[in-house]
Amino acid sequence: MAETTFYNLIEDLERYLESQRDEGVERLEVDRTVLAELTKVPAPETEDAQAVVVDAAPIPTDLASLEAIAAHIAGCTNCALCQGRTHTVPGEGNDESPEIMFIGEGPGADEDAQGRPFVGKAGQLLTKMIEAMGYQRDEVFITNVVKCRPPDNRKPLPEEMEICLPYLRAQIKQIKPRIMVGLGATAMEGLLGRKVSITRLRGTWQECEGIKLMPTFHPSYLLRDPTKKKDVWQDLQLVLRELGREAPPQK
Ligand code: URA
Repeated sequence: MAETTFYNLIEDLERYLESQRDEGVERLEVDRTVLAELTKVPAPETEDAQAVVVDAAPIPTDLASLEAIAAHIAGCTNCALCQGRTHTVPGEGNDESPEIMFIGEGPGADEDAQGRPFVGKAGQLLTKMIEAMGYQRDEVFITNVVKCRPPDNRKPLPEEMEICLPYLRAQIKQIKPRIMVGLGATAMEGLLGRKVSITRLRGTWQECEGIKLMPTFHPSYLLRDPTKKKDVWQDLQLVLRELGREAPPQK
C-alpha cells in the first residue's frame, strides 16, 4: 500500500477536480463537514520558505563535469532543505547522451537514506516502467528537480525548486539527453516555472533547455491510483515513437 500523506490527499483531490472539470462537470456538491476538515490540513511551512535562503551562494554556471556538479550539490546550503538531509541526491544513470532523462520532484526518505534517486516504492515502479519501454534502468538518467529531501514527504516549494534548478540545468547541459520525461505536476512546475494541471499537460510535448520534454503522472500517484497507468503508458509510447523505437512485447 502506498503511503498517503495530507499533501498526497490534496494533490489527488486537485487532480480529481481537474479531471471532472475537463469532463465538463461544472458543479459538485460537497458536504460542509468535509470542507471544514479540509481547511484543517496543514499547509506546507511557507514561513520556512520565506526564510529559505540559509547561506545563499551563487551556483556557478560553468561546473564542467557531473562530478563537479554533484560535489557542489553535496556542499550546498542555499535553502533550508539542507538542514534535514542525510545525503544529497544528485541523480544517477547513463550520463553520456542517454535517450531519456527522467525527472522527479525530489528525494523521499529512502532516497535521502541512500543518496540515490527513486529507490523506494515509487522508484521500483519507475524501474518497471523503464524496463517496459525496453531499457535497463542504468541506460537512462534519473534525477529530481530538488536534490535534498523535503520534510514530511511534502512537495518541494516553488522557491526551493527555483534555487535548486541551476543544478538540474547544468546536469542537462552535461548529459545532453535526447528526451526528458517530467514526472508529476510538481516536477513540471519546477521545470516550466509556472503552475500546471498535469491532467491537461500530460501527453503533450513541452520543451526545457532546448530539449523535448514529455510530462506524465508521477509513479507515486500511480501507486495510489493504478487506473492511471494506461495514461502513463500512452505518454511513454509517444516518447518511444519520438525516439524511433517500439516497446518490446510485454510479459
Ligand atoms: N519521488 C521523487 O520525485 N523522486 C524520488 O527520487 C523519489 C520519489
